[in-house]
Amino acid sequence: MTVYYRHILVAVDLSEQDTYVVQKARNLAQAFRAKLSVIHVLDNIPMPDTAYGTVVPLDQDSSYEMLETVKARLRGLANSLGVDTGDRWMIWGIPGEEIVRIARQEGADLIMVGSHGRHGLGLLLGSTANRVLHHAECDVMAIRLPHEIERPVPMRELAQNPSG
Ligand code: AMP
Repeated sequence: MTVYYRHILVAVDLSEQDTYVVQKARNLAQAFRAKLSVIHVLDNIPMPDTAYGTVVPLDQDSSYEMLETVKARLRGLANSLGVDTGDRWMIWGIPGEEIVRIARQEGADLIMVGSHGRHGLGLLLGSTANRVLHHAECDVMAIRLPHEIERPVPMRELAQNPSG
C-alpha cells in the first residue's frame, strides 16, 4: 500500500467551476508525479442512434453540434493539463456511476471532483460528488469552490459591529 497517489482522475462537468478543480488536480499530480486522467460524462446530450436503436435524438443535427462543442472543450482542457489522449474519457451515462467505473477500470487511486458543479449549491455536496464519495473504491477529494468559502470576519470587525 502506498501513501501517495500514482493516478489521479479528475472529473469535469465543463462548467466554469472546473478551472479551480483542474488547477488543483494538475498541481497535485505534479507534486506526486502521478498520472493525470480526465473524464467528462455526457448526461445531457441525447445518445446518437446506435446499432441497437436504443436512443434516437429528437434533433440529430443539434445533438451532433453539441457533441462537437463538448469534444472541443474537453480537448482544450486536457491539452492545457497535458493529459495524454489515451487518458481522456468522454462517456455517455450517469456521471456518478461512470466516474467510479472508469476510476476502477483504469486503476486510479484518487478521484477529484468539485464539491458542486452545474447543479448548484443546494446541498452540502453536489449529487455527483456525493455519489462518487459513496461508491468509489479509492480516495475521493471534493474541492470546495472559492465562492463557497465564506470570508471569515476578522475579530476587529466583530468587535466594532457585534450584531453583524
Ligand atoms: P454536481 O454534483 O453536479 O454539483 O457536480 C459536482 C462535481 O462533480 C463537478 O464539479 C464535477 O467535478 C463532477 N461532475 C458533475 N457532473 C459531471 C459530468 N457530467 N461529468 C464529469 N464530472 C461531473
